[in-house]
Amino acid sequence: MANLATVLDVSAGRFGAREFLVAGTRRLTFAEVSRRAAALARRLVDSGVAPGDKVALSCPNVPEFTIAYWAVLRAGGVVVPLNILLRAREIAYHLEDSDAVAHLVHDDPRLVGTAREAGGRVWTIGADEAGETTWCGEPLTGPASFATVPREDGDTAVILYTSGTTGRPKGAELTHRNLRLNARAAESVYELDPARPDTHLLVAPLFHSLGQTCVQNASTACGSRIVMLPRFDAAEALRLMLDEHVTIFAGVPTMFWGLLRALDDLPEGKRLHGRLRVAASGGSALPVELHREFEARFGVSILEGYGLSETSPMASHTRLGEPVRAGSIGRPVDGVEMKLIADDWSDLPGEPGTVGEIAIRGHNVMKGYYKRPEATAEAIRGGWFRTGDLARKDADGCYYIVGRSKDLIIRGGYNVYPREVEEVLMEHPAVSLVAVIGVPHPSHGQEVKAVVVPAEGHEGVRPEDLVDWSRKQLAAYKYPRIVEFREHLPMTSTGKILKREIS
Ligand code: AMP
Repeated sequence: MANLATVLDVSAGRFGAREFLVAGTRRLTFAEVSRRAAALARRLVDSGVAPGDKVALSCPNVPEFTIAYWAVLRAGGVVVPLNILLRAREIAYHLEDSDAVAHLVHDDPRLVGTAREAGGRVWTIGADEAGETTWCGEPLTGPASFATVPREDGDTAVILYTSGTTGRPKGAELTHRNLRLNARAAESVYELDPARPDTHLLVAPLFHSLGQTCVQNASTACGSRIVMLPRFDAAEALRLMLDEHVTIFAGVPTMFWGLLRALDDLPEGKRLHGRLRVAASGGSALPVELHREFEARFGVSILEGYGLSETSPMASHTRLGEPVRAGSIGRPVDGVEMKLIADDWSDLPGEPGTVGEIAIRGHNVMKGYYKRPEATAEAIRGGWFRTGDLARKDADGCYYIVGRSKDLIIRGGYNVYPREVEEVLMEHPAVSLVAVIGVPHPSHGQEVKAVVVPAEGHEGVRPEDLVDWSRKQLAAYKYPRIVEFREHLPMTSTGKILKREIS
């Protein structure tokens, strides 16, 4: 069976002259990206990268990320993508933990400086003035003939570091098979068709699994075009949607939120209505209110996907053409099973409404956490991976996330699922963003607290207004007694609210 490393090469044969990567003024075809990846793979092997060697990669969303990703795989190596915001000591930890033999770093002075401080062998990648890809400052020119180093389907292809909720980041080992089949699941959900190539707008970072598998790898396999933005800028994203005729946008909820806000400032904004074929949200809960507003203004309903780094990532998704179930993460994708379990791993009854922890089994479940057999044994049993996410299921088999099990608030013995309280607050016009958390309370154990970023023009809203609003719509044990306003909420670089940093 063809493994992941051959995907780009096969596509270059099928789609050669078709445009593949667009970044600023740079436009690269499938053939060109493939040639550069082959040339880089040759340099890597000549520099000592052996089959199974780990190669770290620190690169923003520019063509060199994609070129380096496929080059490391073609050289028989394992890609270890790193968050580009990491500090030197964090990078040093990741390099050591993953046993990386080298670190490919985008030749931005800040990234290179931090990488050098972290230590290890640093190889820079970048682009010269002519747009040619460079490796250690030299253009990767010349014809590339490179025979992909063979690897087994069950071999590790990528180690993705996931911060989890506790402890130090762990490396999820994803195999060629995991990633190849999960890209295929994305192709099927987005209904990609090589005969009708789509254009994706890629703003989700490529070091995270959503951008990597669902956009980069699925597009590589299906001949779609990717328009890359190195960092999320909502106004720029809208402009690119218009100018580059974008048909698919996959991102995290805060990006959808940003697009909506920026639409008001774009005179031609109305022209975007009905332009997207697919809008897909994942990575964190999509508030129902945001879903409704986006659909009204962009003329497309948002599909919602769910998954984790450990599951390649896609585990479930809502589908095109199916009735919209706001707040649902849909059904498992092809080849994946999901169920709800209790703390002791026992299966929960399938009755609609029962809340339990999601467990996932299928082609997408990682091999394990790199060099952490105990953590792996705690997370995977009999092929089932426990996610730490609580959900319920409806009579049609669609799942609804209610929150992370670690974020569950227990007030006076009653379970309060933050998501439900957040949804109610998001319906208030004065609320732009909200995180509901539990804070210690002498008699109830925990009290429900809402930390709110007010919407523009509603700065006069008072905490008691929001307490009253929630009290009218939620049971007495659920509504937040404490409401606090902040200008910002702490976010991860992938756009998720960092609840554990809020108190
Ligand atoms: P990561 O490994 O960084 O992709 O994070 C995975 C976590 O993101 C999951 O365990 C969930 O808590 C959260 N997540 C992903 N997709 C969704 C979704 N559609 N709704 C709610 N939470 C989500």
